[in-house]
Amino acid sequence: MSERSSAAADVAVIGAGVIGLAVAWRAAQRGLRVVVLDRDRAGAGTSWFAAGMLAPIAEVTPGEEPLLELGLRSAGMYPAFAAELAVAARRDHVGYTRCGTLLVARDADEAEALERELHLRERLGLAVERLRPSEARRREPALSPALRLALDVPDDHAIDPRALTAALLAAVRAAGGEVLEHAPVAGLELAGGRVEGVALQDGRSLRAGRVVIAAGVWSAELEGLAGADRVPVRPVKGQIMRLHDPAGPGLLTRVVRMGPSYITPRGDGRYVIGATSEERGFDTTVTAGAAFELLRDASELVPGISELVIDEFGAGLRPGTPDNLPAIGVGGPGSPEGLFWATGHRRNGVLLAPVTAELVAAALAGEELPEHAAAFAPARFASGRVGSAA
Ligand SMILES: Cc1cc2nc3c(=O)[nH]c(=O)nc-3n(C[C@H](O)[C@H](O)[C@H](O)COP(=O)(O)OP(=O)(O)OC[C@H]3O[C@@H](n4cnc5c(N)ncnc54)[C@H](O)[C@@H]3O)c2cc1C
Repeated sequence: MSERSSAAADVAVIGAGVIGLAVAWRAAQRGLRVVVLDRDRAGAGTSWFAAGMLAPIAEVTPGEEPLLELGLRSAGMYPAFAAELAVAARRDHVGYTRCGTLLVARDADEAEALERELHLRERLGLAVERLRPSEARRREPALSPALRLALDVPDDHAIDPRALTAALLAAVRAAGGEVLEHAPVAGLELAGGRVEGVALQDGRSLRAGRVVIAAGVWSAELEGLAGADRVPVRPVKGQIMRLHDPAGPGLLTRVVRMGPSYITPRGDGRYVIGATSEERGFDTTVTAGAAFELLRDASELVPGISELVIDEFGAGLRPGTPDNLPAIGVGGPGSPEGLFWATGHRRNGVLLAPVTAELVAAALAGEELPEHAAAFAPARFASGRVGSAA
């Protein structure tokens, strides 16, 4: 791409996180000329920090039924998605493990709360098994003897998000798409109520009749859109730690979750311990208090955690919307023609990447989206049905 408007594509995707790359891959597979632009390295945004749990059942929340349905749909797509991606990206695997998940309680109060979680999942017909402490420890011997109760959720698995985004980057390129890193987009170029392309911060522009905004928590910052045409996205900070076991794999095989905290094994001796959930704007500092609490909770549950080596402690920003549901598909009525959104996936962007990619690629190809996508239509913000972000 050189000076002003010399380059053209069918589709410009703003943001090379797990969402933008997955959308670009599926769109390129449909024969569209796709260019993805990222202001940084591909995959270095929020996707870099994600734990990679694919956990629609563990995370089910009353009142978020559409999200449960979408999450189950995407989790169900994962085995085939990961296998196809590995072939497309020419690698043995993309870090997907069918590890299962345990929800655990350490004391009487937590056990009571976990019983309620069990009933909620049973009522929704989700696969979950109540385990006595002895049975939980038989399945995961590293768990503390102080454990009070556990639920086995066999269908919630995990993927290494960094392996996933690296594979998606390779797959986009293999499918004929272009990915421009260190190419910050200033905003959209519009004419006559239509999207004409994107303007880069260095003065260059890329012509494209369809633009997908997949810039995660930065999606609302792009220039060129009226306030009512924007999806309001706010940052929800998560501090998260990465560790490895010098003794190799085997301490844990399943994801173990207690309330909002979790330990996610990668299956190769690496572990991720997370995460805080904080409304602090775009702050990504890491704090001693958060490190202390994450390690305290994790080691109370799995004492062997104390022997692990800390590799990283960082903070990412989950892209949240006012109703906590993602924005997937064409812009709302009155917004520029050719504008598409794939953002606001909050704590579920890795889980929802396959289904989001399928839906947005279908919308880009001019197809009508299925009924189950209606709850995620970006138009719900434009129509004022859902308030703007705090
Ligand atoms: C601590 C933590 C743990 C998490 N754990 C999980 C989990 O276990 N499972 C799960 O499913 N999800 C998890 N998530 C959520 C998940 O990480 C996000 O939902 C997901 O990464 C969002 O992906 P994205 O592609 O929308 O955003 P990003 O990965 O942030 O990608 C957006 C990209 O846009 C680029 N960009 C921004 N502005 C511009 C611009 N102007 N021009 C060009 N490029 C731009 C950025 O550089 C970035 O690369 C977690 C998040 C955090 C913080």
